[in-house]
Amino acid sequence: MLNTDSPAGGDAGPATETARRRTFAVISHPDAGKSTLTEAMALQARVVDEAGVTHGKASRQSTVSDWNDVERERGISISSSALRFDFAGKVINLLDTPGHSDFSEDTYRVLMAVDFTVMLIDAAKGMEPQTRKLFDACRRLDLPVITVINKCDRPGKEPLELFDEIQDATGRTPVAVNWPVGLPSAFQGLTTPGEETYTWHEATQSGARVAREEVVEGASDERLEPGAWSAASENALLARELNGAFDDEDFTACEQTPVFFTAASSNLGVRAVMDFIAAHAPAPSPRTAVTGDDRALTADFSGYVFKVQSGMNPAHRDQIAIVRVNSGTFERGMDIRHAQSGRPLNSKYAHHLVGRGRETAALSWPGDIVGFVNVTGLKIGDTMHSGKRVEFPPMPRFNPERFRVIRLTDSSQQKRFAKGIAQLEEDGTVQVFRTPDGSPRGPVLGAVGDLQFEVVKERLRREFGVETAYDELLPYELSRPLKGPNVESLKQVFGTDLLYRPDGEVVGVFRDKWKFERALEKLPELFAD
Ligand code: GDP
Repeated sequence: MLNTDSPAGGDAGPATETARRRTFAVISHPDAGKSTLTEAMALQARVVDEAGVTHGKASRQSTVSDWNDVERERGISISSSALRFDFAGKVINLLDTPGHSDFSEDTYRVLMAVDFTVMLIDAAKGMEPQTRKLFDACRRLDLPVITVINKCDRPGKEPLELFDEIQDATGRTPVAVNWPVGLPSAFQGLTTPGEETYTWHEATQSGARVAREEVVEGASDERLEPGAWSAASENALLARELNGAFDDEDFTACEQTPVFFTAASSNLGVRAVMDFIAAHAPAPSPRTAVTGDDRALTADFSGYVFKVQSGMNPAHRDQIAIVRVNSGTFERGMDIRHAQSGRPLNSKYAHHLVGRGRETAALSWPGDIVGFVNVTGLKIGDTMHSGKRVEFPPMPRFNPERFRVIRLTDSSQQKRFAKGIAQLEEDGTVQVFRTPDGSPRGPVLGAVGDLQFEVVKERLRREFGVETAYDELLPYELSRPLKGPNVESLKQVFGTDLLYRPDGEVVGVFRDKWKFERALEKLPELFAD
């Protein structure tokens, strides 16, 4: 079994343990190789084999970090799970994010729970639309970003051209930590700018082994094609001269992004990324509470729910509230409270999350991810704590852009339908509204992307046994939360309507951005932000 915890009663306290944590997510446009890199990273720590999970081509549809049936069937990552393993004396908490833009709200919540990210780019495609969007989220959250240029075993863009793209799209200076040798025709390994040697990598065919490495003299290596070494060493030096060398402070201040090259499917270059993460990536730092005060890392335990996941086990309905530890030591069975309601919570069934398996969590420290099984009443954004009360700010809600009425096709299932909708609203799968006339046809669902509607329909069928159908898309493209006693006056503006959330919040919906701008101009006092 994995042994990532210090022995209970050992003297390594939260300060020491926090310094060992590396909590991050890999972000990328779909198909850049996120699942492959995640697997390759875990492989470096040999966690894949130890957890008894098979991998390689045959199991590509169910990699260690994939979870739900829906996501396996569709071959896309919908939910977020966490993978935990030891590497070079550090505890790695790798959070999975859905790549598809329809699940960007889910991704944003995951990014709120990490300390830095790895931005994965396909060497042939460069910065893609979803990469840019995800990067913008990193910018808003002040997250340091490590850039990994993947699929180096195939023909791709010139590395220096990719550097320009990264700089233009992110505003951060890309600095070469290593440089590919043999690109684009035959990727052989990696060098460091200014060095005479390079690390030759054996390409592993199935991706199931850690690549064998050998440090060799670049100029005299006969495996390289003529000119390959001089091109690599010259370009590496040029990149260094243009953008400078890596600097820890500039990296954590989000001014630099260190760049690595990999072929994740052959495990090439992945070790260098992991070594860098262990040595240079930021450990968790104190989180700010709603009061504006930081909760010290060494204070009593606190954490917040960034994801509620259900439907993992088809045999019985279970639900896990996924929590990031923000301070102190969490010990299973300890007394903890739910900050929002003040009531005690059961901490007996807490688990670390390792892909589809669960490992019972004995002790956890800041940066760790813990799943609370079947603890009712926990919602996304909620805080739990021991000792002195603390509450962290709620998760921001995205403004939905797509709206549909969902109808029950068999009216005898009304009770289960209501329960299912409430559950899916609670775990953040979709937003639920009613119309001013009480929604006689069914509740209105609000989403950022259409795939969310499909997931709702499928989960209602699978987990709650109810069949549903959707009406046509409602004619709104934008929504904004409203405030104040006069929200009803928005209805005077042509092309706008009101929707109500279960908690009473009123949301204005607009047919297009011009109607929205007009309403904002006429009635600015109604808009919450
Ligand atoms: P994701 O959608 O970002 O999670 O991408 P996947 O990890 O599923 O990879 C998408 C495809 O690219 C799969 O067919 C992988 O086998 C392939 N792939 C991933 N990494 C590499 C790589 O380094 N080189 C090559 N040639 N293919 C890769």
